[in-house]
Amino acid sequence: MDQKGVNTVCIHTGELEDKEFKGVISPLYMSTSYAFEDVDVKRYPRYFNTPNQEALCKKLAALEHAEAAMIFGSGMAAISTGLMTFLQAGDHIVLQQTLYGGTYNFVATQLEKYGIGYSFTSGWAVEDFEKEIKPNTKVIYIETPSNPLLTITNLREVSNLARQRGILTMIDNTFASPVNQNPIDFGIDVVLHSATKYMGGHSDICAGVIASSEENMEKVFQTAICFGGSLSDYTVWLLERSIKTMGIRVNAQNENAMKMAMYLSSNKDVENVYYPGLESHNDHNLAKSQMKGYGGMLTFELNSDIDVSLFFKSLKLIKPAMSLAGVESTVSSPVHTSHALMSPEDRIKQGINSSQVRFSLGIEEIEDLVTDIEQAIAKVKSATVPA
Ligand SMILES: *Cc1c(COP(=O)(O)O)cnc(C)c1O
Repeated sequence: MDQKGVNTVCIHTGELEDKEFKGVISPLYMSTSYAFEDVDVKRYPRYFNTPNQEALCKKLAALEHAEAAMIFGSGMAAISTGLMTFLQAGDHIVLQQTLYGGTYNFVATQLEKYGIGYSFTSGWAVEDFEKEIKPNTKVIYIETPSNPLLTITNLREVSNLARQRGILTMIDNTFASPVNQNPIDFGIDVVLHSATKYMGGHSDICAGVIASSEENMEKVFQTAICFGGSLSDYTVWLLERSIKTMGIRVNAQNENAMKMAMYLSSNKDVENVYYPGLESHNDHNLAKSQMKGYGGMLTFELNSDIDVSLFFKSLKLIKPAMSLAGVESTVSSPVHTSHALMSPEDRIKQGINSSQVRFSLGIEEIEDLVTDIEQAIAKVKSATVPA
């Protein structure tokens, strides 16, 4: 485990030395064909062991306080490979009820084909997980903070429960990023990321990560080379560059989200604000006990007389867009994007409604973001004044 500060790890850990020209950054090796004679390692991109892949994985492992890590072609490549590594026919998995849509879809459409059973919890408390455990449960899968209402799952309690029962725990740590939360420190076994989000951070890279113990990662490796979800060295190299600024980006995003959450809480045209950094959030104390920062994501509900789609169209700086975590601020409507495929009844059960706006804070000046929200609300209100 790397004991250096997070920014030092982001910038330096794993970097390759340019022995030929003494440049200060990792050289990029694009070769897909390497010698097999007189070498220690037979390298090949789909074996996840090219020089740039290995360099980045050292950084990723250090960031998650893990023994080892692997980089994949997308978050879903990492998640599906991870699940298929630790589950087989006859097994059962317990999943938290609010999950990233793609993960939910993978579970609901693929697991049955392989003879793997699954249950979703009815809530986020450790008792809700315990209730769903069966004699053949092999994995507990969580995601915290959750999308879109930023509920927090207790890492320590869930990992303790799983350990007592000999069950492996997996977490999707995308929303927090390794800057704000390191689940392995709380006993979670396997950490997953969509590196498309905070690690990439500029909305231009699609990638995924698995980090865990050497023993677990050896198993992941055997599955991963079969599924083949590796990432091209050029993108690996770009991601190494992106991660150098992850610490300062995420801290700026945390700060903007906190300020925006406070501003929105005081706005009379806003009904509810969901942000774990607010003392009014149900899970604030839990978040405080297991996160180093509260993250750059928040969700708010406009008063029901404000037309959300008109609000989106009235924004000038903040972009209505799918996905999240870029340096630019974006907003989306969970009902129309991440949770569009969910039945209306399930959405109600999970507290998701059409007045909600999911806000991914970028690193612009907070004053400019507040001004944009204010002018957009004013515009919607003036357009919808009854005649
Ligand atoms: C985006 C996302 C994923 C999927 O990642 P891709 O890179 O799009 O495959 C998984 N989990 C969470 C929480 C995400 O936001």
